[in-house]
Amino acid sequence: MKKLLIFTLAIGLLGCVSSCNNESTMKKAPVTPAIDLANMDLDVLPGDDFFRFVNGTWMKNTEIPAEYSQYGAFTILYENNQKQLKALVEEVSADKSAVEGSVNQKIRDLYNSGMDTARINQLGVKVIENEIAEIEAIKTIEQVQQFIGQMHRKGEYPLFYVYSSADQSNSSMEIVNFYQGGIGLPDVSYYLSDDERSAELRAKYLDHLTKMFILKGDNPEMAKSNAETVLKVETAIAKNSKTRTELRDPVANFNKMDLETLTTVSPNFDWALYFNEIGLPEPGDINIGQKEFIAGLSQLSKDISVDEWKTYLMWNLLDNSADYLSDDFVNQNFEFFGKVLSGKQELQPRWKRVLNVTSGRLGEAIGQIYVEKYFPPQAKDRMVTLVENLRLAFGERIKNLDWMSEETKAKALEKLATITVKVGYPDEWRDYSALKIVPDGYLQNARNSRAFEFDYNISKVGKPVDKKEWGMTPQTVNAYYNPSNNEIVFPAGILQPPFFNKDADDAVNYGAIGVVIGHEMTHGFDDQGRQYDKDGNLNDWWTAEDAERFAEKTAKLIDLYNNYTELDSLHVDGTLTLGENIADLGGLSISYDALQKAYNGQIPEPVDGFTSDQRFYLGYGQIWRQNIRNEELMRRLKEDVHSPGDARVNVPPFNLDTFIAAFNIQPENRLYIPVENRAKIW
Ligand SMILES: [Zn+2]
Repeated sequence: MKKLLIFTLAIGLLGCVSSCNNESTMKKAPVTPAIDLANMDLDVLPGDDFFRFVNGTWMKNTEIPAEYSQYGAFTILYENNQKQLKALVEEVSADKSAVEGSVNQKIRDLYNSGMDTARINQLGVKVIENEIAEIEAIKTIEQVQQFIGQMHRKGEYPLFYVYSSADQSNSSMEIVNFYQGGIGLPDVSYYLSDDERSAELRAKYLDHLTKMFILKGDNPEMAKSNAETVLKVETAIAKNSKTRTELRDPVANFNKMDLETLTTVSPNFDWALYFNEIGLPEPGDINIGQKEFIAGLSQLSKDISVDEWKTYLMWNLLDNSADYLSDDFVNQNFEFFGKVLSGKQELQPRWKRVLNVTSGRLGEAIGQIYVEKYFPPQAKDRMVTLVENLRLAFGERIKNLDWMSEETKAKALEKLATITVKVGYPDEWRDYSALKIVPDGYLQNARNSRAFEFDYNISKVGKPVDKKEWGMTPQTVNAYYNPSNNEIVFPAGILQPPFFNKDADDAVNYGAIGVVIGHEMTHGFDDQGRQYDKDGNLNDWWTAEDAERFAEKTAKLIDLYNNYTELDSLHVDGTLTLGENIADLGGLSISYDALQKAYNGQIPEPVDGFTSDQRFYLGYGQIWRQNIRNEELMRRLKEDVHSPGDARVNVPPFNLDTFIAAFNIQPENRLYIPVENRAKIW
């Protein structure tokens, strides 16, 4: 797993893939309406629930498919894309003549090895018996630590993550980083909180662990005891971990030191041995991310017995392999991670799961074929023009701010001017020639791929950053800002309706992809992004007064989201989601201005009875269209730095005069925000 510090538009769909229409299908395909009036619920007042006003009838008429935890604009693109990618991969997979070592051979054999359920089911747990024996043979704590290094080198991550990325104090060079990890439940609070949902999840997790150990071959009593050990070890790890909100502080999570200092911070872990095992005997500077966490590992090395560590490593082996093993493992994994945590009712069909793995593991190889076939080059030019319009509008907003000093403004404008833009797909494609994919070993292929990714990533340590690289595949329906490169990136996957609709009027496109662009630009100036300078280094370029005024302004936004009810007593966490909420609010403001510049005073006539201003906000409201299951909503409220779709539509516009005027929002409307409570930042 490569961890990049990037600020995304939305939570990633697992193995997310999507599509773009090519010119020929575009001609055949019906024109996607800019705004589909049939999706709206005109009985709802915009000021009472703008999300339902825009999407209400669609929400009533759309049942979430059994295999999904939420369903909406993003998932519909993902579905559409999977069908296109399936055709593409099946075409490659049917080609028996692909040369050994070629990309086509790899796509073919990875996909086919995953679809070969007869073989996978027949082998069952046998495919991991060597690793089981290796863990059983461990006798000392040094061997435990050595084995952790060996697993990391295979791209599997017990305890913590290790990866190369830009040095945050010297962003043109790569250094090695640690990042906290090591737990099976998706949030540390699930181990430590007494609330009902956390207690329920712990009990069900224990049950899941027990069943997985039984599948491995333990008797039920032993399996239960092993499950309890895993929960004990992971709870100890969770106690040393930071919360998600604490992880959002870039300065507090940047702790650069050399190997010698690391050894004093965390003396009971043999770091020299560890770095030797991962193939980096001379790591140079190390950013240990969470200092308390890494220091805590030292104490855990003493407090937890070798046998307990072995049980923990065994669980990591099972958990990392489960998706590639026989159906009993896959189904049990789904019972917990799909049903319990996210409320899904059915496992995805096998072809989709294997396609996700293929599209993830060979992401740019498939991406390359995909964009050749489906991505219209004109979309790239139109995006570049849009981005420049947004950049101009943002610059004017910065110049006109009444709360920022001239000194800070000058630096902000400089940072804005130097943001680089990537659209569609990378200029240079990844080279997969060192990755070996075999015809008859699904788990082996996954392992080869993980190790390949690990070597590729860790070999960068000590070298200059390759600024041309992408952190998402072209087929991804998402976008991101990368503070170290000061860049905004829009994969081909998101450049299609309802985000980017070549047949839509400007108002709708600026409300959708325009806001997405503004959102990503604003990330360079949100509570995290503003701490990086134009060169991508952690460097405070703000005057103290400006920083203070910024904090006062963002405090209002935190309050607004903290008070937004999602489910019964559950509210959005305004602090956890602050950066994304700043980006949504900023994105709307900037894109609205850019649209007015594009009109140059020539405001178009209403379409379907909606004015240009109304259509801008309708365009925004429909990209967040979704239905979501309660389990998934509860999970995301804790884990996701993005607010749920309804909050993204029902909070930011109500701070903006143009929205309030466009829909004639009145104080008696449910979502009305009194003038003194409104947030205005950018
Ligand atoms: Zn974002």
